[in-house]
Amino acid sequence: MSLELQPLGLLAETKRPLVIAGPCSAETEEQVLTTARELATYGCKIFRAGIWKPRTKPGGFEGVGVEGLEWLKKVKEETGMLISTEVATPAHVEAALAAGIDLIWIGARTTANPFAMQDLADALKGVDVPVLVKNPVNPDLELWIGALERLNNAGVKRLGAIHRGFSTYEKKLYRNLPMWHIAIELKRRLPNLPIICDPSHIGGRRDLIAPLCQQAMDLGLDGLIVESHCTPDCAWSDASQQVTPDVLDFILDKLVIRTIAQSTESLSTLRRQIDEMDNSIIELLAKRMRVCREIGQYKKENNLTVVQSARYTEVVDKRGAQGVLCGMSADFMKTVFEAIHEESVRQQLEIINK
Ligand code: PEP
Ligand code: MN
Repeated sequence: MSLELQPLGLLAETKRPLVIAGPCSAETEEQVLTTARELATYGCKIFRAGIWKPRTKPGGFEGVGVEGLEWLKKVKEETGMLISTEVATPAHVEAALAAGIDLIWIGARTTANPFAMQDLADALKGVDVPVLVKNPVNPDLELWIGALERLNNAGVKRLGAIHRGFSTYEKKLYRNLPMWHIAIELKRRLPNLPIICDPSHIGGRRDLIAPLCQQAMDLGLDGLIVESHCTPDCAWSDASQQVTPDVLDFILDKLVIRTIAQSTESLSTLRRQIDEMDNSIIELLAKRMRVCREIGQYKKENNLTVVQSARYTEVVDKRGAQGVLCGMSADFMKTVFEAIHEESVRQQLEIINK
C-alpha cells in the first residue's frame, strides 16, 4: 500500500524541523493573541490552538468553540503566522475552513474511531488543506495508517502524521508512552509521509519537552508540535506540559539537528527500531525483576523457599511453547528463560538475606 502524497506546502520545508506552537486550548482572545505575538517574535511560523477540546470526563473545559476561530483569524492578520486547530466532526471542518484555517489536525481519540475518520474524510473531499493525523490513543499502527488512507482515498494529498505517544493504564514517567518504534515503522512503511513529534502530550511534563524534542530529531522525525502558553501555570487545560514562548525558543535553539545519511538510511532506520525494542526489553525485564523482589519479600515473610521448582518448570515450558509459536527455537527460549529465572532467584535471595 502506498499513499499519493504531496508536500505539506506550509513553509519552504527545506530544513528540519517544522515547528508548530501554541496553547493547548484557546481560552480568551487576550491569551491567544499574547501567546501568538510572543511566539511570532521568536520566529515561529505556525500557530496552534485547540478550539474544541476532547476531554476524558464531562465537566472539564471543553473549548471555546467557534468564537475562538475569530481569535485565530486575528493571529493570522496581525502576525502573519499560519493557523491550525483540531477538528473532530464534519461541522468542525466546515467552520475551520470558513475561518481560513491553514492546517488542521485530527486528535488521537478521533483517529481511533474509523466511523469518525470516514465522516471527516467525506467532509474533506475536494478540499485542498494540509491535514496532520495524530496516532490513535492505542498502539495500533494499522489503525493509524487506516485513518491516513481514508483521507488519502478522499483526495487529501497534503498529509502528515503526529506522533503523540500511546496511553497506558499504568501511569509512568511519560503521560503517553513514546513507543518510538511505531513511528519509525510508519516512516519505513510510508517514507514520504512527514512525521511531526508532539513532545507535550508524550511527556505531560515541562521538563521532558527538551529531551523528547532532541530524541525526535535524533530519530529523524520531520517536525515538532509543542504546546506553548503565555502563562502556562494558569492554563485551562494541560497546564503542566506547556512552556512559555521564551522557554520554547531556548529549547529549539539548543536542538542538535543531525543529517540523515541517504545511502544507509534504511539500515539505520532498522537499527533504530532494534535499539528502541532493546530499550523496551530492558525496561520490561527491570519491571519483571521488581515484581520478583516483591514476591521475594512475600516468601521471606511467609518462610517459603525461593525456588519453587513446579512454578519454574511451568514458566520455562509455557514460554518455550509460546516462543516456538512465534517462530523462535525451543532452545533459544529455554536459554532466555533460564537466564531470566537465574537473575530472578539472585534478586530474591538478596531480599531474603537482607
Ligand atoms: C491536543 O493536541 O491538544 C490534544 C488534545 O491532543 P491529543 O489528541 O494528542 O490528545
Ligand atoms: Mn493538550
